[in-house]
Amino acid sequence: MTELSKLESLIRSLKESQGKVTVLTGAGISAESGIPTFRGPEGYWSVGSKEYRPEQMATRAMFSLDPWEVWSWYLYRRTVCRKASPNGGHFAVARLEEILGDRFRLITQNVDGLHLLAGNTEKRTFQIHGNLHFMRCTAACTDGLFPIPASIGVKGRNQPLTQGEKDALRCPGCRGLSRPHVLWFDEFYDEHFYRASSAIQWATQSDLLLVVGTAGATTLPMQIGEILSRKPDAVLIDVNPNPNPFQELARAHPKGVVFEAKSGEVLPKVVALWEKSR
Ligand code: NAD
Ligand code: ZN
Repeated sequence: MTELSKLESLIRSLKESQGKVTVLTGAGISAESGIPTFRGPEGYWSVGSKEYRPEQMATRAMFSLDPWEVWSWYLYRRTVCRKASPNGGHFAVARLEEILGDRFRLITQNVDGLHLLAGNTEKRTFQIHGNLHFMRCTAACTDGLFPIPASIGVKGRNQPLTQGEKDALRCPGCRGLSRPHVLWFDEFYDEHFYRASSAIQWATQSDLLLVVGTAGATTLPMQIGEILSRKPDAVLIDVNPNPNPFQELARAHPKGVVFEAKSGEVLPKVVALWEKSR
């Protein structure tokens, strides 16, 4: 039996039981939109003569040391994301929400906002690592989010910020320094900014977990994968052209399905199965 026909019968029984679905996505789903993942060679960032990895740049420690360099990195990445459009994988996930309605939640590690552009709703999307189109106060004078000001346009790689841009990145509340609205590697998940408890709670009740383009290097997604892998009746699917821990969990699970392929190719086929057996 091919993986697709195995999945078809699993989906059919899930439909009868009105089961809940979690889609968990990582940088891989946006790779076909031209946004580099953190593992690729484009991940490096030069400061002076030194090269830094994303795991070093995306930290509170680096921001305390050199906030404008970290802002410069984020504004460059935001420029790349603004030029990108959702691909077939994003549209398939949006269609799945349309089909399943309130039985569906999306948990994404991506900060590029492409899922929302493709049509997933904010209500049913947990952006557990934030969204780089927003900023917030470093001093937490307010816990609100502010869109990155429209005056900040295209930023090239390693292009320093102008004084006008630095002023625009001040907190609208207290005029102190603002920061990108993203979870850094040396910070902890929380509910208010990242909806971490809601994500865990939904995933725990789910009957199907579809993991897409995730390397498994972050703690909350791994925790979700492990919770589902301990539920013998849950369906566990991994979509990723490369080996990763979710693939291993799916292989070891009686209702596990593994697609070793690109998400833009596989997800439309997976969603077509749902449409077919409606
Ligand atoms: P990652 O960069 O660590 O891993 C990406 C994964 O995607 C890999 O396992 C790779 O094999 C897989 N992949 C590559 N091309 C694919 C494709 N076409 N289809 C399916 N899978 C594909 O990403 P991660 O696991 O999401 O975690 C690292 C952190 O990177 C997260 O905190 C995330 O916020 C951040 N990040 C986000 C973006 C974005 O928002 N687009 C981009 C880079 C990094
Ligand atoms: Zn403030």
